[in-house]
Amino acid sequence: MQQAVAQEKLEQVELFIAGESRASSRGETFQVTNPATRQTLANVASGTEEDVRAGIDAAYEAFPNWSQTTAPERAEILFKVGQLIQENVEQLARTITLEEGKALAEARAEVKQGYNTVMYFAGEGRRMLSNVTPSETKDKLTMTIRRPLGVTAVITPWNFPMMIPLWNISPALVCGNTVVFKPASFTPITASKFVQLFVKAGLPRGVLNLITGPGERVGRTLVESDKIRVCAFTGESETGKGIAQTSAKCLRRQVLELGGKNPLIVASDADLAVAVGGALWSAFSNAGQKCTAASRIIVEEPILDRFAKTFAEAATKLVVGNGLDPSTEMGPLISEAALTKTKEYAEIGKREGAKLLAGGSDYKNGKGPDLQRGNFHQPTVFSGTNSMQISQDEIFGPITTIISARNIQDAISIANDTRYGLASAIYTKDIRNAMKAAYDIDAGVTFLNQGPVGIEVGASFGGVKDSGFGRELGEVGIEDYTEKKTLYLDYSYRVHPFFYPWKK
Ligand code: NDP
Repeated sequence: MQQAVAQEKLEQVELFIAGESRASSRGETFQVTNPATRQTLANVASGTEEDVRAGIDAAYEAFPNWSQTTAPERAEILFKVGQLIQENVEQLARTITLEEGKALAEARAEVKQGYNTVMYFAGEGRRMLSNVTPSETKDKLTMTIRRPLGVTAVITPWNFPMMIPLWNISPALVCGNTVVFKPASFTPITASKFVQLFVKAGLPRGVLNLITGPGERVGRTLVESDKIRVCAFTGESETGKGIAQTSAKCLRRQVLELGGKNPLIVASDADLAVAVGGALWSAFSNAGQKCTAASRIIVEEPILDRFAKTFAEAATKLVVGNGLDPSTEMGPLISEAALTKTKEYAEIGKREGAKLLAGGSDYKNGKGPDLQRGNFHQPTVFSGTNSMQISQDEIFGPITTIISARNIQDAISIANDTRYGLASAIYTKDIRNAMKAAYDIDAGVTFLNQGPVGIEVGASFGGVKDSGFGRELGEVGIEDYTEKKTLYLDYSYRVHPFFYPWKK
């Protein structure tokens, strides 16, 4: 039974520049609404070009001092942030559910991942390895040191409003860079709340600046500034391509984490219940609004009918509702526009001849008023082919398509027949199938006997093809935020000839 949800207190979100909260320079604001109820949650400062420049200048001015602190000192602040996250788990998770919509249990998991990220990169403050290589000359060392790059722009989407920004902000800061952070306009409240935790932890003024406001203004002005030396962008592939073009003009470091149309292969020897459960969670958690969502489920013919029937039945049984309700398994879509897009794709699927196995519409004609008010769409399952539009376009909603494959080789070819290459998965008990998929699927990640969901901070993450380039997290997570500089240390105190003659 879904519980009634009370009106939330209206929040005010301001910009945070050079250690101070402030309104937009033109006094403009925009509103954030709860996707489950469409109630207004906050008035948010809408940053202008002038505000963005002020944020960049603050970060630029803070850089010399911050980069001169030791990495362990910087890490101490991140450890404190981790501690503060732990103390505020419920408040942060609730905020995520209110403005993004995901079920509270999922929001808590996101806060935990944010915590894990901060703690992992705090650990980097005492590691941050570089190399010493044997020199070709006696009494000499050849080695590398790491230097921070400067002002980093962090531009992020709404679907993981805490975890994804922390994937970028934490390594950027521990490596000695300063940051201007532009969160998605659907989720600025979460952003503002965790930025305040950095302040409380003692981060000096100007080191982390928050500018809320439209991507076309705030994001664009940030990216166009040649004072930005690293641009970490997560979002749609088309937005990312535009940013890459602008970034190329000033030859800056960039990380691009973009869209996905992720295949999940079910081999005929797979444990059916495990595969159904994993596919369900991957396709429909966060209402399918995940760059890693299993939006194409490729099943070997011998088990196709059994899998499709069991999976569609399970999808129909998912409890859809307000994420604050403890019984909810799938929340709403982020916006009315996202709901309209999902509904359109459900119609496209029907028109192009895909067979509807579950869902297929919103709740306007049935169910309770709670589901009619918010941006809710049924978990939807089609059976179709890989060439259909529903199998090629990133819908970013609760729609997945089951596709038949003759054998594992065919399944891998289908998996690769897409412009994207982010996550992928295979369920099989045969190690030969698993390793073939591991090597042959064009993607940044392959999950073996797990649905594509649940990224861990200790391993690198990123995509190929239109899913972007660069790798976040894991031991390579600091590469994007440091430049390696080579040192030749000659401790012979002798003059060496410029060249090294061959010895006879
Ligand atoms: P968008 O590309 O629309 O927006 C992402 C961010 O970029 C937002 O903060 C947005 O601001 C900003 N932005 C928009 N236009 C510009 C511009 N011209 N210049 C600079 N910044 C701009 O993506 P969504 O927020 O809709 O996120 C969903 C997408 O993100 C999906 O494609 C999904 O696959 C991808 N994604 C990828 C992940 C990965 O790790 N590979 C992880 C999560 C999501 P505003 O909100 O104000 O429009």
